Amino acid sequence: MSTTTSQTTPLTQLIDMSGRTAIVTGGAMGIGLGITRRLHEAGANVVVADLDHDAASGIAETLDATRVGSSLAVATDVSSVDGVEHLVEVVCERFEAIDILVNNAGIYPMVPLRELTLETFRRVLDVNLTGLFLCTKAVSEQMIAQGRGGRIINITSIDAVHPSMVGLAHYDASKHGAWGFTKNIALELAPHGISVNAIAPGGIATPGTGEITGEALQDFETMIPMGRMGDPDDIGRAALFLASDLSSYMTGSQIVVDGGRLLA
Ligand code: NAD
Repeated sequence: MSTTTSQTTPLTQLIDMSGRTAIVTGGAMGIGLGITRRLHEAGANVVVADLDHDAASGIAETLDATRVGSSLAVATDVSSVDGVEHLVEVVCERFEAIDILVNNAGIYPMVPLRELTLETFRRVLDVNLTGLFLCTKAVSEQMIAQGRGGRIINITSIDAVHPSMVGLAHYDASKHGAWGFTKNIALELAPHGISVNAIAPGGIATPGTGEITGEALQDFETMIPMGRMGDPDDIGRAALFLASDLSSYMTGSQIVVDGGRLLA
């Protein structure tokens, strides 16, 4: 986003998102919801683009009650070309422009290689990588046409750097891909004033990780140096940093937010 801030710009202005519109995919729960809440609190209009339309509508209604006309739920499957086109159309109709895209929607079914079907492998790649591509392509074209830059934030994972547990080979493939894609489009979109950065979370307590139980979870938790699972808001804060003018000279970077888990 082309920035008009300087060394004397007050901090409150640097994180003021008023007048900007953000799409958060998978924004109805977990990490996506943590991000949606912080961007909205900072003044942005937020679009909750989620497969779970009931959950997305509930969140949008709650946010809208605090600032009328500031939130919208759009039923979206990020892996569908038509679905993503529809999302961009509806958002532009309602808010006229898109300034921030957070590619957060993702799935991580735990399946060891010997039990991994082609169907599961493809679905994980479709949502985590193809979905990120489709949303980025459609939204970046819109941002370029608007001519006022933009921010793209991709939620990768510590698994984009190093495997965290057995049973996630398909997921790690998708997240390594997402990180590679992030770096390359950061190069391509920089001349348009669009920054592209990633956040690599690890060990965040969400409805998704709530489904991982037993030994695997226990083993994971004991290896977090900070001694606790993360909260979706821990990622919301990092996303606000990347969406705001606090990160004015950053592109092609990946911020690890994992309580130190990668070190262990
Ligand atoms: P979650 O399962 O708790 O929530 C995911 C949200 O995405 C849900 O609202 C779901 O309806 C939505 N969604 C799923 N498929 C979708 C699709 N095709 N189109 C649109 N929306 C869809 O997950 P989470 O733990 O909050 O994870 C969010 C992101 O963070 C994922 O990309 C995940 O890989 C990444 N991540 C999470 C952790 C963690 O510890 N929770 C760690 C590393 C990376």
